[in-house]
Amino acid sequence: PNISIKNLDITYNYENDSEEVKAARDINLDIKNGEIVSLVGESGSGKSTIGSSILNLLPKDTLTRGKIQLDGKNLLELPENDIREIRGKDISKIFQDPMGRLNPLMTVEQHFIELLNEHTDFGKEKAIEKSIDALNDVGIPPNRFEDYPHEFSGGMRQRIMIALALVLNPRILIADEATTSLDVVVQSQILNLLRDVTEKYNTSILNITHNLGVVAEISDRVVVLYGGKVVEKGSAEEIFHKPKHPYTKGLINSVIGLDTEELEWVEGTPPDLVNPPSGCPFHPRCPQVMEKCKKQFPEQTGFNDSHKTWCHLYES
Ligand code: SF4
Ligand code: MG
Repeated sequence: PNISIKNLDITYNYENDSEEVKAARDINLDIKNGEIVSLVGESGSGKSTIGSSILNLLPKDTLTRGKIQLDGKNLLELPENDIREIRGKDISKIFQDPMGRLNPLMTVEQHFIELLNEHTDFGKEKAIEKSIDALNDVGIPPNRFEDYPHEFSGGMRQRIMIALALVLNPRILIADEATTSLDVVVQSQILNLLRDVTEKYNTSILNITHNLGVVAEISDRVVVLYGGKVVEKGSAEEIFHKPKHPYTKGLINSVIGLDTEELEWVEGTPPDLVNPPSGCPFHPRCPQVMEKCKKQFPEQTGFNDSHKTWCHLYES
């Protein structure tokens, strides 16, 4: 695998509060070279927290346990300087709001030059050449190189962010709700673009989203999170056509063909991560809940090498 997450627990405190939030519990996830893995769940499922932990972008007093391994190094134990070197170069990230990440006072060219200066010793000419190539790969013509962020549409700005994220040939690109604020047509163009550039740059993508529609279009594999726990994982095909976990089934039934907002997927509200439900975290909302679901977190059930779920219904 390109990157490997092992037994990851993430706990943090609310500001000025003594309450512990258990944002992620015992997460295991491998992402292979060139693979697109989607991490799906409602808000409060822990998905963004896991993405941030890979870049070491969690708030200072966050407690992490477990490993996030890249090239045999545990990213959770690296000093801030080493992480800064890796961030943007080996691991890059695109977000929901490109405008908030681009400097309104800098041209597109200046953004690229700044990034390349920080991570390479390219001369100006080579830096410009690299940047124009990356922009070309995302469909931004060279004559826009000296324009400012506000002169572009939302979709074009996200393309610029993708070019910036790729120009250093990262091993993995983390896309956190990267298409959520775009209209459906542009969303689909950006997803296709991500798919294409993954192949060209041989970059893996960790696609973090609440939107299952987005997942169907680009993922090789899908990991479903609920209440900070992985409850099902499998190939995109398995998750869409043979979902096993009642939560995954609910998600799929409620969003097929619809662009729903977060929280409306399954009846009820997401669990309180300060006091997560005992046993299976989905039990207060599960239509098939049994007595033991309230007491015990289920063991893993494997249907084949890729498709697994954690649900008492499948335990023999
Ligand atoms: Fe529902 Fe029980 Fe399965 Fe949890 S373990 S999803 S509560 S049936
Ligand atoms: Mg989020």
